[in-house]
Amino acid sequence: MLRAPQAREDIKVVSFDVDGTLVSQGFADCVWLQGIPMAYAEKEGLSFEHAFEFVKSEYDKIGEHRIEWYNIDYWLRKFGLDIPYEKLFKNYEDEIRIFEEVENVLTVLKGEGYDLILSSNAATEFIEFQIKPIKRFFSHVFSATSDFGEVKKTNGFFARVCDILDVKPQAVVHTGDHWVFDFINPRKIGITAYYLDRGRSRNIKGEDDEFVISNLNGILDKFRKR
Ligand SMILES: [Mg+2]
Repeated sequence: MLRAPQAREDIKVVSFDVDGTLVSQGFADCVWLQGIPMAYAEKEGLSFEHAFEFVKSEYDKIGEHRIEWYNIDYWLRKFGLDIPYEKLFKNYEDEIRIFEEVENVLTVLKGEGYDLILSSNAATEFIEFQIKPIKRFFSHVFSATSDFGEVKKTNGFFARVCDILDVKPQAVVHTGDHWVFDFINPRKIGITAYYLDRGRSRNIKGEDDEFVISNLNGILDKFRKR
């Protein structure tokens, strides 16, 4: 089946993934792989290496298919760390990198009258903290884990988002950097999806090629009204 891009006039909502799409992964990695082990090392009087090993093995026992994996309060409690996540986040604020084209792309799309939203796997507190400088562009922030108790962005996740916004999937464009959760799944229900491949690492040929972009400017060309 040939998928033609939606006509610009039909599109009302433009949705974005967060990690790897608007911001780099560095901040989240620092919180989980430095901040928490370091706090645990201090509390237990361990070396960082020992604490890291232990913390990492506890993460692995839970694994990304369980909802606890995404819940920082769960982990702080589990490791007996008496430190609010806000403080941990603050320590790594300098690691937050919003990709350079993001602000301009959001400004243009907003100016064109699109409703901009976020659709992420990450827990709400991670999303909100990382997007502070660009928060004003978005009308809604949807977290699969915090809002819907789902560990991945399924087609059901995208259907719920459409329901809540009261729009048809055909009126929504989604862009993100995960092949399944940002591209395959939203397309299943009729959303127009763009796969963001910043490193151009996937070799996609044929009709899907026009739905692959290497940075977010790629959607501007397709959705700028003239
Ligand atoms: Mg992502």
